Amino acid sequence: MIDLKSMLPEELASFFETLGEPAFRAKQVFTWLQKGVTSFDDMHNLPAALRRKLAERSYITAPQVARKQVSRLDGTVKYLWELRDGNCIETVLMRYHHGNTVCISSQVGCRMGCAFCASTVAGKVRDLTPSEMLDQVLFTQLDSGEEISNVVLMGIGEPLDNKENVLRFLELLNHPEGLRIGMRHVSLSTCGIVPQIDALAQLHLQLTLSVSLHAPDSPTRSDLMPVNRAYDVEELFNACHRYFQMTGRRISFEYAMIDGVNDHDWQADLIVQRLRGMPGHVNLIPLNEVAESPFKPSRRIRQFQKRLESQGVTATVRRSLGGDIDASCGQLRRKAMEEKGDAHGDLGNQ
Ligand code: SAH
Repeated sequence: MIDLKSMLPEELASFFETLGEPAFRAKQVFTWLQKGVTSFDDMHNLPAALRRKLAERSYITAPQVARKQVSRLDGTVKYLWELRDGNCIETVLMRYHHGNTVCISSQVGCRMGCAFCASTVAGKVRDLTPSEMLDQVLFTQLDSGEEISNVVLMGIGEPLDNKENVLRFLELLNHPEGLRIGMRHVSLSTCGIVPQIDALAQLHLQLTLSVSLHAPDSPTRSDLMPVNRAYDVEELFNACHRYFQMTGRRISFEYAMIDGVNDHDWQADLIVQRLRGMPGHVNLIPLNEVAESPFKPSRRIRQFQKRLESQGVTATVRRSLGGDIDASCGQLRRKAMEEKGDAHGDLGNQ
């Protein structure tokens, strides 16, 4: 069976050719899919015979809302979606003054093993398809009735560990017949897979690259993030410098502030040193508590920020949204089918 919504328009056209159908039919179907239509029967402008043929050979992904939680603090919405194969992933809708941002997952689980993050606790099950990433944007927009202007790949999973599907998803997201969300409205966050950062640089995309830094020195970073043992922080910064040279795009660095681990003055100074020659922006994240992790939030965020800024590095403190529904950075997790019924904080499909 073919996953129609993961196909780019030209691929859809060749598929229709193999069915002996004219190219304009492929266009019609593409438009329906981008509108979030979930059944071939709703594609009114297709002949019944073609609808049947499509239903025999292909399918349309349509995640079900397994749970929807709304933050009482700030109106942030967290969706738990059940996918076609029963796996569940999470998506968060955040409302900012500059528009609505949706934070999407790129994998079912994660295999990067960062010590402070809930998304990786149960490991990775599989990559998400382009359609499953697009659906998170599409169905969040349809369910909430609110237009989405920005997409961040900062949910569950490591986008550069699923790069081909992510790139295809971005093409679909940008498409003029689809949601038309441009690259400038997309942020992609990575834990620092160096060869993939280099490969991404070659593409000259207008998106914002975010790098999860969390420590500027290798011993600390290796303790927190196993990826640092494969590509250490020095190699990572070299790749960031190359990325900036290739694309001219400023990189954003995420830094979750952990008490007594990565919040020392010397670490701020080392960040400044490593950023020399490149305009970087550091996003300081108050550490969110994760049950499985021993770490505590730092009490030195403002001092750390000042220390960076006084040396010419822009640093902002990320406002934490959706804390009461575990929708903040690092708190999203895949859920198995049996867990999803857990009624904690459940507001149903209101
Ligand atoms: N795998 C990608 C995408 C995830 S983005 C990446 O690592 O960048 C999610 C962001 O939240 C990452 O920067 C991650 O390091 C951060 N994060 C994870 N756990 C956190 C926690 N407990 N508190 C604050 N931020 C956390």
